[in-house]
Amino acid sequence: MHAKVDIEIRYLFDAPPPPGGTLALLEGITWVRVPLPFVLDHVNCWLLDDGDKANGVTVIDTGADKTKTRELWEQIFEVTLAGRKVNRLLCTHGHPDHVGLAGWMVDKLGIELHMTLAEWLAPQIWIEEGKRPMSAATRGFFRSHGLTDAAIDKMDQSRETAPFRNHPLPTSFIRMRDEEMVSFGGRRWKVLVNGGHADEHASFYCKDDGILIAGDQILSRISPVVGVFPSQPRAEPLSDYLFSLKRLRKLPADTIVLPSHGLPFRGLHTRIDQLEAHHDGRLIALWTLMDEPSDGIALAHGLFPKAMAAQGQTVMALAETLAHAEHLVAKKRAKRHVGNDGRVTYMRW
Ligand SMILES: [Zn+2]
Repeated sequence: MHAKVDIEIRYLFDAPPPPGGTLALLEGITWVRVPLPFVLDHVNCWLLDDGDKANGVTVIDTGADKTKTRELWEQIFEVTLAGRKVNRLLCTHGHPDHVGLAGWMVDKLGIELHMTLAEWLAPQIWIEEGKRPMSAATRGFFRSHGLTDAAIDKMDQSRETAPFRNHPLPTSFIRMRDEEMVSFGGRRWKVLVNGGHADEHASFYCKDDGILIAGDQILSRISPVVGVFPSQPRAEPLSDYLFSLKRLRKLPADTIVLPSHGLPFRGLHTRIDQLEAHHDGRLIALWTLMDEPSDGIALAHGLFPKAMAAQGQTVMALAETLAHAEHLVAKKRAKRHVGNDGRVTYMRW
């Protein structure tokens, strides 16, 4: 038996650097606060000193592909780094706020990109999909979960302004794999590849200094999106996500966590407790809503009334609802039924 060591969540700094600003966070690690033009208004990127100052830096994550973000990075290269070279770019995963400028940075600096395979592929598929009309399979997915044809048409038209508009990714990359040991930023790191939020999301753990560069796998204040999307209509990502939390709980309780959104903190196990409780709460709320056969959209209205009333948040709210509904099905707490018309409904056992 291990005595449970709970460490309260303590932020390393009470406030982030200003938008576009940098802050020396830990020895050899600089925090870059990159603004985002989304509801989520920032992403944390990291500059790691590769040994002494003559040896340049490693960059982790880029922000979205926006003119202002490019200007910010240009300023960082010229002023913050004062000409020190960038040795490599690592991206935790393929979401546009992390990888949006990877291709641009690699071309501009002549460096290599290090990523996991699935995360390098995914944004390229999204770029290709975005060039074509919405597929019949995608339309069928939304229709099966209760969206009207008019709502689907509207969604199709608004894809032109969707955030998945990355600069093209580099055509080659260095693949990172789970449990691999890598050296960068003057430290040795174990690559921890986990699912749930993205299929092959990479976090980096330095045992010697007790630092976890968590990416989006663990965030300080919000819960990472765990959703079922049209590309994998029968996925059950919540089990993957909860498994990743169990895995990360094996790291020491006093690990310093550097999340991609929010503030760096200590108190990993307490944060994992909170994230697990958050999903438990959602599962109970959803199970309660399933007293009669209900489709995904109806359940999303019950679970996320604010998001469903807001503009442009239907897909995310539906995706999160389905992730929890499919988890209840997997745990035999709910039944999934497909009608003759293809409509999918869920009802609790
Ligand atoms: Zn993400």
